[in-house]
Amino acid sequence: MRVVSLGSGSSGNAFLVEAGPQGRTKLLLDAGLSTRTLAMRLTSVGVSLSQIQGVLITHEHSDHVHAVPVLVNRHALPMIADERTLAAIQEGLNSGVWRSDSGRMVPTKFPREPQAIVSTTETEVVEKTSTLMTSTTVIEERIVAVSQKVARLPFPFLHQVLPTGSHLTIGDIEITSFPISHDATAPCGYLLSAGGCRVCLVTDSGEVTPVMLEQMQHADLLILESNHDRERLVRGPYPWHLKRRILSPTGHLSNDQAGEAVLQIWREAGIRWLWLAHLSRTNNTPDFALESMRLYLRSAHVNLAHIRLAALPPTMGQVWDSTQLWS
Ligand SMILES: [Zn+2]
Ligand SMILES: [Zn+2]
Repeated sequence: MRVVSLGSGSSGNAFLVEAGPQGRTKLLLDAGLSTRTLAMRLTSVGVSLSQIQGVLITHEHSDHVHAVPVLVNRHALPMIADERTLAAIQEGLNSGVWRSDSGRMVPTKFPREPQAIVSTTETEVVEKTSTLMTSTTVIEERIVAVSQKVARLPFPFLHQVLPTGSHLTIGDIEITSFPISHDATAPCGYLLSAGGCRVCLVTDSGEVTPVMLEQMQHADLLILESNHDRERLVRGPYPWHLKRRILSPTGHLSNDQAGEAVLQIWREAGIRWLWLAHLSRTNNTPDFALESMRLYLRSAHVNLAHIRLAALPPTMGQVWDSTQLWS
């Protein structure tokens, strides 16, 4: 399994997740960058957009769905999310605006031919969806069933409904979604498993719930939001209503909340890679976030040699390859 951070923070979030022989299953986890940036960063790790089989969406804020109009239109990529999130994406496509993480409305970036949301031929639709829904050996058998399913789609773009709290297998990757606490329609985190390795993503949550901890504890690689330093946020330049939103139970996780969460699930043979994600550029720094996490870990006498810690940048970030697990 390989995970690549393509960008993290309020300017845009996306990860590449690959699994199986030769990384044959390729998914994006959020698509909050411009399609051009997304394509360029994928190319830099040897992947093209045409190889992606689907996009798992955590929630409909612009920093997580920015590329969606182009991805569904020009690339016929299926969006995988809770039905309520798919409906919110549809609403964004219809209205021409997304809501940003800061509550601002930002224009939906359409490709030049916005009317062509359903631009793929039926064969392309069936091919893409069948790849998405099946393990690679039984695609042909399923094409008829998939074709019938496509005909009943309630949204005019390719999609797969993954109700929050449920499981789905796409090719070599098993996906579990679970609810998080954020001011979006049906925000979720994901636990992805392949070949005995597990990656858990939790960003954009105002609090850490028992349901989240239950999933996070299974991760070899935990990607956890460490959005802000509380003091810096409170004293910083943001307007009060925005500060209140970020600090609320449906806002974003602070460095302290991230540290407390990791200590709650810490065990010797558990998480070995921890990426701090969705850092605020105004109310945090990578050094602040890392030092805060180290303080929490040291306070619980965790041997820092047991965990590889990184803070994800807004640009191309860390690459994790599960073969590292055995080295
Ligand atoms: Zn966000
Ligand atoms: Zn958000």
